[in-house]
Amino acid sequence: MSETRSFIEVLLDQNFTRKLDYAVPKEWQATVETGMRVEVPLKTKTVQGTIVAVKPSSTYPSVKSMIRVISNASEMTSAQWRLAHWISHYYAAPLQRVLKCFIPPNIRQDVQEKTQNFLSFQKTQAEVLTECESLRMTNPEEALILEVLLKNKKGLFVSHLMEEHSVSKAAIQRLIQRKTLSLKKTPIPRDLIQEEEFFMTSPKKLNEEQSACLQKIQEALLSARFSAHLIHGVTGSGKTEVYLQAIGSALEQGKGAILLVPEVSLTSQTIERFRARFSEKLAILHHKRSFGERTSAWEGLRKGEIRIAIGARSAIFAPMQNLGLIIVDEEHDSSYKQSEETPFYHARNVAVMRAAQEGSTVILGSATPSIESRRNADQKKYILHTLRARATKASLPSVKIVDMKKTFDIYGGFTHFSSELLEGIKERLAVGEQTLLLLNRRGYHRLQVCADCRAVVKCPHCDLGLTFHREANALQCHLCGFQTKISRVCSACGSKKELVFKGFGTEHAERALHAVFPEIRTLRMDRDTTTKKESHETIFKSFRAHKADVLIGTQMIAKGFHFPSVTLVGVLNADAPLSIPDFRSAESTFQLLTQVAGRSGRSDLPGEVILQTFLPDHPVLKLAAAHDYDAFYQAEIEERSLFRFPPFSHLIKCLFLSKEEALAESDARAAFSFLEKNLPSGAEVLPVTAAGHPKVKDLYRFQFLIRTEKIEPILPLLSQIPPCKSQCKIDIDPLSTFF
Ligand code: ADP
Ligand code: ZN
Ligand code: ZN
Repeated sequence: MSETRSFIEVLLDQNFTRKLDYAVPKEWQATVETGMRVEVPLKTKTVQGTIVAVKPSSTYPSVKSMIRVISNASEMTSAQWRLAHWISHYYAAPLQRVLKCFIPPNIRQDVQEKTQNFLSFQKTQAEVLTECESLRMTNPEEALILEVLLKNKKGLFVSHLMEEHSVSKAAIQRLIQRKTLSLKKTPIPRDLIQEEEFFMTSPKKLNEEQSACLQKIQEALLSARFSAHLIHGVTGSGKTEVYLQAIGSALEQGKGAILLVPEVSLTSQTIERFRARFSEKLAILHHKRSFGERTSAWEGLRKGEIRIAIGARSAIFAPMQNLGLIIVDEEHDSSYKQSEETPFYHARNVAVMRAAQEGSTVILGSATPSIESRRNADQKKYILHTLRARATKASLPSVKIVDMKKTFDIYGGFTHFSSELLEGIKERLAVGEQTLLLLNRRGYHRLQVCADCRAVVKCPHCDLGLTFHREANALQCHLCGFQTKISRVCSACGSKKELVFKGFGTEHAERALHAVFPEIRTLRMDRDTTTKKESHETIFKSFRAHKADVLIGTQMIAKGFHFPSVTLVGVLNADAPLSIPDFRSAESTFQLLTQVAGRSGRSDLPGEVILQTFLPDHPVLKLAAAHDYDAFYQAEIEERSLFRFPPFSHLIKCLFLSKEEALAESDARAAFSFLEKNLPSGAEVLPVTAAGHPKVKDLYRFQFLIRTEKIEPILPLLSQIPPCKSQCKIDIDPLSTFF
């Protein structure tokens, strides 16, 4: 074999940005390929990494030999490499962090090793809770592991923990050594993709608007050149039917398709709809699926045996061969943005870039397209398709705005429900139809406040008031999960007067509803009732099976679901999201209201929507009530242009986190001054401020924004920000400028 394969460049999994050279022993020279996983020596240890180049020589005088190749074949196609480099560049993220998306930990597992490490508790729940509390300050990483496990009491795979929560093996190891956790090896079930029995569905005869849209997409697929399509179709207009037929066309041409859906829409209802149309295997890529299932799906894709992949945002990294089509359903959805850790990528933007690089067709679909995407359509970067009517006989629901000030006046104080809404619910009860109620706050009471000094009872780890949860009978922090008993004494002034509660959440609204209608059957859906793996799904199934008259919940209930018997949707506090000081708050409010309204009257029965608000004349509410996306878009685009917000600029958020408040602030200021001096024209830095949540999990947060016409000239500067002790997170095109 040739000496041209004598050396490899390896990117280690450790946080080393530099690539290292290794010599390739003779017996491996025929095997090595870029994209393979290898084991190599590093000082005295054996570590793993990814081959990023194979070459004939090395400029280093004394290179060590690699130990062995772990992969059967390259884990990445050349197209995937190109995309990885683009993400690393554009999102200013280290390449090995990006490679974690393309070669997730379950795939990194040794192929020879057919077992997985399974973690469970060795101590009682009370002992673990105490340990978790004390670890929060001293070792937040170990505390996080315990928190996650407390939510998954039966145990978890180590690789799942590492992948989903970015915790280190060392931290897990320490907990095992202290006998808090135990480790078991369990075999990986290899092929778990369930082939259930389905009645297959055949393609529906498309209406005129749908046909025109599909035809353009089919032409694009045939041309095998990149094109991007934005389908703006009202809720229930038959977008999904168009996706199904477009995937059919891609398959006919021997090409593969990736469908991205928002995290919460990845339910069996969605998956079944696709399974029932195609007789071939589907890869369902979801972290709630078993590892064996995901591993086998990933391998099936890589070998070209599976041609349809469905998943949440990370499915955009699927190793699909001969990619013809990418679909991003509900393209405006915020779950497409990874906002917790680097790379802070947006799966919709990655989808468009991937399609461009691979000469594929990309479809973005929504009833409320993001302002960015809609503007791209205006500028002819995307081809716009409009579906104006619902595909079935159903018409869009009628929407009524109710002024809650008047309601409060009539009731002489707070109530969840206006008489209009109560009347509506009563009518539905009488005829056996269903109601959805949206209240975007979970818990019972929002806050506990001292009656004397007005101090709010706050989380000891975060700068946030604690929410009272009645079922748990505890105060809870919605940022870190901290729980404590109700306060009896004010810690600020020592007053022993009973502390008062303020504000109301879903738990309270549910009880209030039972007080009005004692016989009413309700289901509640929020983060409290959906912690278990299947609970989300179970609640939906029960509601569809009409086991309840009312489903009350947070925004989780707003998205994409089809409940044929829902004819009334009530939004208890429609203006709440408008109060968030962010340039996107009007947009997200409009989207939320339109989406939730779209759940009403989806079959033959006409639907009604009631929006309760203190701002009955607010233009966003009025436009949402009128189903007038176009007018909303025009108004919003003028506003954004006036204030030079995206899409008229790019924002970059630089966030500094530290246990010391002063340090986080001074590090942010140092970076700010550096940028202020060095930014090119067309870019500016906005002042340093505390973040919307100034302290989370014992870390203080300071931030500033860069506003720039173009991202490209800023990127080299970002890597030159002076090194600092705080943790620095750089989010390119952040979703929120506030949090
Ligand atoms: P969207 O994805 O835009 O919300 P769907 O594709 O879910 O809309 O369509 C809504 C309903 O209309 C579904 O029950 C679907 O089966 C039905 N439907 C879609 N297209 C047609 C069509 N051309 N003829 C008849 N029914 C259709
Ligand atoms: Zn007090
Ligand atoms: Zn907290």
